[in-house]
Amino acid sequence: MKNFEEISKITQCEICKSKSIFKALEFKSSPLGDIYLPWNKKHLSKKLYPLDLYNCTECGFLSLIHKVNPKLSYTNYIYESKTTVGLLSHYDDYAKNIYKKLNLSSNDKILDIGSNDGSMLNSFKKIGLFAIGIEPASEIAKLANDQGLMTINDYLNDKIREKILKKYGTFDVITANYVFANILNINSFVKNTYKLLSKNGSFVIQTGYHPIQFKKNMFDYIYHEHFSYFSLNNLINLMSKHKLKLVDVDTNSKKGGSIRVIFSKNKKAKSNKLKINKVLHYEKKHKINDKSYFVNFEKRLLKLKNKSLSMLEKLKKEKKRIVGFGASHSVSTLSYHFELNKFFDYLIDDNKKKHGLYSPGSNLIVKPVKFDHKKPDYIYILAWQHQKTILEKYKYLKKQGIKFIVPLPSLKVI
Ligand SMILES: [Zn+2]
Repeated sequence: MKNFEEISKITQCEICKSKSIFKALEFKSSPLGDIYLPWNKKHLSKKLYPLDLYNCTECGFLSLIHKVNPKLSYTNYIYESKTTVGLLSHYDDYAKNIYKKLNLSSNDKILDIGSNDGSMLNSFKKIGLFAIGIEPASEIAKLANDQGLMTINDYLNDKIREKILKKYGTFDVITANYVFANILNINSFVKNTYKLLSKNGSFVIQTGYHPIQFKKNMFDYIYHEHFSYFSLNNLINLMSKHKLKLVDVDTNSKKGGSIRVIFSKNKKAKSNKLKINKVLHYEKKHKINDKSYFVNFEKRLLKLKNKSLSMLEKLKKEKKRIVGFGASHSVSTLSYHFELNKFFDYLIDDNKKKHGLYSPGSNLIVKPVKFDHKKPDYIYILAWQHQKTILEKYKYLKKQGIKFIVPLPSLKVI
């Protein structure tokens, strides 16, 4: 018997407690995105959960209406930072960037929350800084510790916060790198972060940025493990509740669209007003909190879905063999919402850890990118954000007559 709620439904904004929230987006129900299981356990990933988002008219918070308990989704967590293409050098650059921007010295202490396999800790270590991490996934935390990257294996809660304060004191910088979306109780998380920061400490966040993502029709960043979706506007509203002041912002195209923000505990810290106003102006101009913004996004996705469906139906009638490329979280949202699974013979992926396992819900086997006599006619790139890398790496397959289908940001056959 489980001793926790499997799913909870939101009825008021979790940040400002306003009841004035509306259903912003609704996708097809889908299984938990990363539950890739062996043959004898594959039935365990069959359950589908609603995938819909609310937007708060008061503070602009955008978050899942139905929240699946993270205890369910993290049992088989095998994502490692290193497995994502090009992320390693990105961490090095990011650490150097923070070092320079915050004018850090070797005395400064850094805490990385959701430190994964310790890639970011390693980048800080390389520039001579003291850095420790917190990571809830035990296997990955062990991996980091084995490499000498000090990692506390837990969630950040009140108990752990006190333990850390007792042992290490407060931190000059706290980083949260692509974990902000995964936090179930975000108010308590920010409260604990605030308490762990030194008097003039900085909270540095990097997370997905939906105004860029939605613009390129990217919706597969939305899945059950990602509870919340951020804009500068809703980040400011959230942090100001916890007395944190925005001092800097950057947006970029990492992971399809990201935002980097620095908040300070020091009320008098100097802020980069020019950059902040530019991003806020962009968000206002594109009415990112209006119903129409979400309605238009859904309309564009429906058009793309129908195009993709009619092409796949035609290919199946011609008895073409199609396989899907990609076995990660985001693939479940795309393949369920676009109703793709029935067209695929199986999935292929470069990640060896996924080989021989079965995809969540649809139970398609994941194989290496290596074909015997039964070559597919088409490879549908589910991991479309890595299309450039994939097309370059496997261009020799094109010479063998295999065609690639890319579904987003617009449908094309290569
Ligand atoms: Zn709100």
